[in-house]
Amino acid sequence: MSLAARKIRLVMQLRQTGVVDTAVLSAIERIPREAFVPEAFQDRAYENITLPIGQGQTLSQPQVVAKMTQALKADRRMKVLEIGTGSGYQAAVLSRLCRRLYTIERYRELLQTAEKRLAELRIHNVTSRVGDGWQGWREQAPFQRIIVTAAATSLPERLIDQLGPGGIMVCPVGAESRVQRLMRITRDDSGNVQEEDLGEVRFVPLVAGLPQQQSRAAGGPHGG
Ligand code: SAH
Repeated sequence: MSLAARKIRLVMQLRQTGVVDTAVLSAIERIPREAFVPEAFQDRAYENITLPIGQGQTLSQPQVVAKMTQALKADRRMKVLEIGTGSGYQAAVLSRLCRRLYTIERYRELLQTAEKRLAELRIHNVTSRVGDGWQGWREQAPFQRIIVTAAATSLPERLIDQLGPGGIMVCPVGAESRVQRLMRITRDDSGNVQEEDLGEVRFVPLVAGLPQQQSRAAGGPHGG
């Protein structure tokens, strides 16, 4: 089966599992997932599976990417923050659904590869940097939407503080190796926060701080 045929099959599967937002489905259809996975997994790019991306990290299965993206309810006017750039795939999908995406990754190597891929696909509304996602991106706050693509041990308060009025954050919460819950936080106009549980997920952990060898070299924003 060709990659194109596999992609169509995947989009049909996503629809069957409750992803009905046509903007989300069409963004997934337009972004070549094969461009974000290692050479050895090219032919599996459109299977509904998690794939390794280096540094012990993983690209979430398409169904989880789709579910989280739909839950975020982003639109073309919004400024969005992503924590955990990883391969850059989720960033590419979101770039089609918002005005500007800011994305933070703690591994410089992963970020550089992701930036290269986004540039090759001529995606120009993404600004990225190396950093600790637990801290968010204070200089660019507030954000209308925040998506966390690694599991936090508890709701990251700093990130909730960086949500604007009416803002939504989607974040997996729970201990590593256990089942996590996908939480949606909505902040109303007066700053009150409402929590919803969107079901079970499994993510790599949202680790605090930067990997040892690069913490001194971490710089400011670049790319975009
Ligand atoms: N969104 C990614 C999937 C990422 S997997 C994609 O589409 O490919 C989770 C990523 O979060 C990993 O790359 C991991 O290095 C990163 N991460 C974990 N803790 C982090 C933190 N505190 N700050 C920034 N990135 C973090």
